[in-house]
Amino acid sequence: MAYLSKDDLERIDTIIENLRMKTGCSFPEGNLVDFAKALGVLVYESKFIKHDDVDGFLESPTKSNEKAKIFLNKDRPTARKKFTLAHELGHYILHKDSQRQYRFDEFDYSGDEEEVKKETEANYFAASLLVPEEKLKSILALSRGDINIAAEYFGVSKPVIENRIKWLKINK
Ligand SMILES: [Zn+2]
Repeated sequence: MAYLSKDDLERIDTIIENLRMKTGCSFPEGNLVDFAKALGVLVYESKFIKHDDVDGFLESPTKSNEKAKIFLNKDRPTARKKFTLAHELGHYILHKDSQRQYRFDEFDYSGDEEEVKKETEANYFAASLLVPEEKLKSILALSRGDINIAAEYFGVSKPVIENRIKWLKINK
């Protein structure tokens, strides 16, 4: 995983804080699809018959009157779809200037360094959005550090909680 500096993490945290204020949506209480809608992004779930290795993808608009679209692989578990949607929203928010119309995600990063960094940023965005720091600290305190309980509470997988904890230790 590419290294994100403290500045990178703080920049993304600030963006998320602004989006929370702008949309009035915070997690895990909020609905992520409603949050996407509030940002002007359309969300679809479909079967990826020829591309079942793909978790989801972002289609950026080519004209100013079009909206961005995120497609999720219908066959993935709920927690995975949720994380993928948050990850694609991360690309939409953080990498808008990118010239690419399509960004496919199968969570296997083998691109160049710049692309790997973008993937890491999108993962950090997703984890920070879905697992806010103060709420995570409360849950871990209440559950005596039980990661399974935290994962269930936030509706994400265990590795997402583990990475979030790792990132919070860096971001001090
Ligand atoms: Zn990605």
